[in-house]
Amino acid sequence: MIRICPRCGKSDDKISFVGEFCIDCTLEKKKEKMPSEVEVELCVKCERVRSGLINARKSQKSPQSQRYNNRVRGGEKWIKLDNKILKEIVWLEFKKKGFSGKFDAKNNTWHGTFGEEAVPYSVPVQIKYNKQVCQICSRSTSGYFEAIIQVRGEMEKVKRVCAKLKKRIGKNNFLPKTVEKKEGIDIYVGFKKSIPEILNDEGYKFVRTVTLSGERRDTKRLYRDTFLIRV
Ligand SMILES: [Zn+2]
Ligand SMILES: [Zn+2]
Repeated sequence: MIRICPRCGKSDDKISFVGEFCIDCTLEKKKEKMPSEVEVELCVKCERVRSGLINARKSQKSPQSQRYNNRVRGGEKWIKLDNKILKEIVWLEFKKKGFSGKFDAKNNTWHGTFGEEAVPYSVPVQIKYNKQVCQICSRSTSGYFEAIIQVRGEMEKVKRVCAKLKKRIGKNNFLPKTVEKKEGIDIYVGFKKSIPEILNDEGYKFVRTVTLSGERRDTKRLYRDTFLIRV
C-alpha cells in the first residue's frame, strides 16, 4: 500500500516518511518550532560568554522569547569562547519539544536530529551578543578573592604543581596573586566554586578550612576557603 503525505501529496515510493508525513513536511513543521534567534551574553573585555542559560527566540510565528537550559559542565558562569566550549554551550535542551539542537556559530545554523529515525535537520538562526563586563573582569581589579590554595612540599615540585594549577584554574577564573613562602606557595583564587572539583580531578588530596572574613556590601557573608595540598 502506498502512503500519501496529507500535507503535500507526495507518495512513499518517491520520498521517505517519518510517521504520517513525508520527511520534507516533517522538517518544515519542526523548523517552525526552532529558535530563530539566540542571545548570548558576551564580555567586552575578555570575550568570555555566560554559560547556564541561553535566551532563544522562537520563529516569527511564535515570537515569544524562551529560556532554555544548556549543558555546560563545570559550573563556572563565565567561560572562554574557544571552539570546543562553544560547541558545548550551544547544546540546548529541547527535550520537552521532542528534539534537540546544536548551534554552529561559524555558519549561524542549528544542526540536530529528531525522531527515532534520527532524521537530521539544519536551520539558520541569528546569534545576538548582549555585550557587558563579566564578573571575572569586574572582580579581578577589586582585590576580591574567595580562596587560597596552599601548596606545600619540596620547592621544585611545588613550583611545577602551581604552574599546572594556575594554568587550569585561570582559564575561567582569576588569580589576583601568588605568594612564595619558605614552606611553599600560596595561590590566591577569585572564585572558589570549581576548586574542589579541579583538585580532585588533578588527583590532589586537600584539607579545606573555611573562615568567615567579613560582610560583603550586598550583605552576604563572605567565606574564604583555604585548600592545603601536599605534593
Ligand atoms: Zn509532505
Ligand atoms: Zn570579562
